[in-house]
Amino acid sequence: MENQKVVYLDNATTTAMSNEVYREMLDAYCNLYGNPSSMYKLGREANAVMQTAREKVAKAIGASASEIYFTSGGTEANNWAIKGIAYANKAKGNHIITSVIEHPSVLESCRALEKEGFRVTYIPVDEFGVIKYSEIVKAIGSSTILISIMSANGEVGTIQPIKAIAELAKANNVVFHTDATQAIGAIALNVKEIGIDALSISAHKFNGPKGVGALYVKKGVKISRLLDGGEQEKGLRAGTENVPAIAGLGKAIENVTANIDENNKQLKSLRRYFLKKISSLIHNIELNGHTNQRLQNNISISFEGANGEAVLMMLDREGVYVSSGSINANGTSEPSHVLLAMGKDLDTAAATLRFSISTATTKEDIDYVAEKVKRAVKRIRSISAIRIYKNKVEL
Ligand SMILES: *Cc1c(COP(=O)(O)O)cnc(C)c1O
Repeated sequence: MENQKVVYLDNATTTAMSNEVYREMLDAYCNLYGNPSSMYKLGREANAVMQTAREKVAKAIGASASEIYFTSGGTEANNWAIKGIAYANKAKGNHIITSVIEHPSVLESCRALEKEGFRVTYIPVDEFGVIKYSEIVKAIGSSTILISIMSANGEVGTIQPIKAIAELAKANNVVFHTDATQAIGAIALNVKEIGIDALSISAHKFNGPKGVGALYVKKGVKISRLLDGGEQEKGLRAGTENVPAIAGLGKAIENVTANIDENNKQLKSLRRYFLKKISSLIHNIELNGHTNQRLQNNISISFEGANGEAVLMMLDREGVYVSSGSINANGTSEPSHVLLAMGKDLDTAAATLRFSISTATTKEDIDYVAEKVKRAVKRIRSISAIRIYKNKVEL
């Protein structure tokens, strides 16, 4: 059998690890097997590699190395930030503000806290997926201890006004956390300039390994630990550190933040090409998210009358990998909470696909994908026997 062409357009879900990152990790796996807490040379060497990675992460976001704590990924960083800050500031108040479009690791952490007596306000978004700032202003009160709003949304690519939110939090003496998992490498983030108190990172979203991330916690911000155990990470995150993965995270964040402007320029042009191509081939489609306040790698499109999962399965057979506007939970498929929060109806949400490109995506890839999407959508639409006469495409 001939090798099938593969086009991976699901980079917002996870990315392929770069060779450079892999080599960095291989060295750590093979040669730096000492425990970084050990006092002898082999341990000190592993510890030194970890400190170098810590400095790289810190530099990428304008923090100091002493403010970076390694975790098992974005999920742990979000759980820790939200629960840890809530517990540590309990004496001051019990109110938390977040948004309806956060990642489940943020939303579920908040729900868990609600069961323990914390009060949570979930801020809505407008039709473009922008968090309603005025609703945060209204929600803030004397018992508010934490605001957690993501830097950018991965489903529709909308970038949030985190600087304004950070300033609002500061003026009200409230801690501000942001889930920057989708934003690292896509937008330049400087925690000091923006005024961020805590920030979550996940390596596998920017060509690093899976299962490793970091939480930035500004010096002086009170946070309690999630894991009890040894004295690793200044006693705040127990457990022997995953040194090779941490080395990979350091390398990956260094690489991705070095080329933000260049990458965005390339992605913007590829994105435009993609949209032009798709809209010339397929009618009755709707582009989701914000026009310019957005991640350039994200293309979320609703194909009226074509179930996203059905199209996804057809594309799978052609070696084209994308995400649908649904989330698989407990074996059933539920429409994306983000699309619904933006006011999309159930049918539209279910007819949505997210293509997330990378700088490795080529125009040939896009030509190939556009043709396959056209065929799949046509087929699914004809099966669904839905006749659409009105044309609402405006790109
Ligand atoms: C992927 C992702 C996470 C979770 O990170 P993991 O490292 O996969 O646990 C959290 N928030 C957002 C916005 C993400 O995209």
